[in-house]
Amino acid sequence: MNEHHPKKVLFTVHEPFQFACHPGLSCYNRCCHDISIFLTPYDVLRMRKGSGMSSGEFLERYTITFLADDGIPLVLLKVSEDAQKACPFVTSEGCAIYPNRPWSCRMYPVSPTSSEEVEFLIEEIPSCLGFGEEREQTVGEWKHHQNIDLYDSMNRAYREITQHHFFQMGNKLDAGRAKLIYTACYDLDSFRKFLFQSRFFEKYDVEADLIDKMENDDEELLSFSYRWVKFALFSEDTLRLKDRDMDKLLQSQAKTPS
Ligand code: SF4
Ligand code: SF4
Repeated sequence: MNEHHPKKVLFTVHEPFQFACHPGLSCYNRCCHDISIFLTPYDVLRMRKGSGMSSGEFLERYTITFLADDGIPLVLLKVSEDAQKACPFVTSEGCAIYPNRPWSCRMYPVSPTSSEEVEFLIEEIPSCLGFGEEREQTVGEWKHHQNIDLYDSMNRAYREITQHHFFQMGNKLDAGRAKLIYTACYDLDSFRKFLFQSRFFEKYDVEADLIDKMENDDEELLSFSYRWVKFALFSEDTLRLKDRDMDKLLQSQAKTPS
């Protein structure tokens, strides 16, 4: 461990820090125990792909959901119930879903201090021996190495929902609307069924090539689910009805200050 390194330091994206994590360290896998990991919709999309399950099975087996004060669903990774509190995906060889591990596992030990990502906090935990390794990289290089770009862009789009001015004005979601967010954003298989087994595409004007893509492409489906949530919950102009007269009426109601 570097004795001269402070315990907590703020870095910009261009500043280097000293850290490396690899199976040769005696602490290997220690950080996959006693954890609290909140999962974003894109985390769940990737993790359930990595585990080969449907979204419903994955959520049931590996997550606990509760509602924040404003009604937004918070999805927490379920850990083992013994004192170890182990992640269900940790093995003696490492992470069983490594290519699909969640955002916070990729980012560790770097945490953005705000959604603008101007500064990042690095907290040197004594039990994590990676801080004693010689490798240096900037925060930007670390993020690039962890393939975080797609996660960042999908999570940014979800934040537009969770940090919407609807909530900043003190509004709360009722149970039905909380369920709408949860199903559309987290339980993608159910959301796909809802779209393809109802008359949704008869009612809403959705591009034909996008409909084709959404049948099999979860990323496209999740991006569409964000559009649907903004339309259904916040009356945003993110979808159009095929009935143009009704659409105009809805748009004008959405623009009328209440
Ligand atoms: S170096 Fe740190 S991050 Fe890597 S396995 Fe050890 S405790 Fe975990
Ligand atoms: S998902 Fe993988 S990297 Fe993250 S805590 Fe679990 S085992 Fe560790």
